[in-house]
Amino acid sequence: MAEIKKYKISKIDSSIKDIAILQMEPLNGAIEPFTPGQFIYMHILDESGNSIEKKPYSIASSPKSPYLEFCIKLVNGKVTGKLAAMKSGDVVGIEGPQGHFAYKDQAKAIFLAGGTGIAPMMSMLRSINEKQLRGEFVFFYSTKNDGSIIYRKELAALAAQNPGIRIIITITQESTADWKGEKGRINGALIAKHLTEVKDYDSWMCGPLEMIKGLRTALVENGADIKRMKMEGWG
Ligand SMILES: Cc1cc2nc3c(=O)[nH]c(=O)nc-3n(C[C@H](O)[C@H](O)[C@H](O)COP(=O)(O)OP(=O)(O)OC[C@H]3O[C@@H](n4cnc5c(N)ncnc54)[C@H](O)[C@@H]3O)c2cc1C
Repeated sequence: MAEIKKYKISKIDSSIKDIAILQMEPLNGAIEPFTPGQFIYMHILDESGNSIEKKPYSIASSPKSPYLEFCIKLVNGKVTGKLAAMKSGDVVGIEGPQGHFAYKDQAKAIFLAGGTGIAPMMSMLRSINEKQLRGEFVFFYSTKNDGSIIYRKELAALAAQNPGIRIIITITQESTADWKGEKGRINGALIAKHLTEVKDYDSWMCGPLEMIKGLRTALVENGADIKRMKMEGWG
């Protein structure tokens, strides 16, 4: 088994219902460098520091960040039930990084995500912004209501800071009267409304497995090349 590094929780943001954004700092050295989009295994440790449970989580922070950030839906399961009870200063184990769902500075990129599928996309968008990459980076994000838009302010700031970044948020269930953005699921028509030509783009999709299947079809309908698609599904 790969080495497990101990990380201390340094910040917890619980401002969105049933979501925890956790920042963690290394206690005995950081994990190996990662590429935006990759995931780690998070281990719950017993009092002696031995692993008792583990689950994979996508890294939401950029590779340059001094901490690791995760965006986790709390479903009261084996790992999320324990994470929900944690406080700043508590320690978990991190093993990794792993995975082929990686963004390598491609200049024409479409990112599509639902719910906590935003986690790896934040790593990608933050990295694009930090490196001041030039290109076209279009992020389609779907979430249930306008109160559950994770990273809402930061997404707006990223689009303001990098002229190539565009953020399209769509609300799939109830929205408030203030909501001026898109409504309904991400489908072929929504993609075509915001992007006239998808043929030359690489794409990354992350969210529930059923959603990913629909997103793939929506991209293919618009002429995207299936060989240039990367998918990560869970839930
Ligand atoms: C590569 C990869 C990356 C992942 N990255 C993330 C991430 O960034 N953020 C994140 O939140 N999750 C992520 N996941 C999912 C994560 O690994 C766990 O499966 C999830 O947190 C549930 O673990 P648990 O031990 O708490 O629940 P379990 O004890 O395994 O399950 C408890 C119950 O919750 C249900 N359940 C599990 N997941 C969900 C869900 N999403 N919504 C509703 N019900 C659910 C199960 O069906 C089960 O009934 C990722 C999975 C993979 C494979």
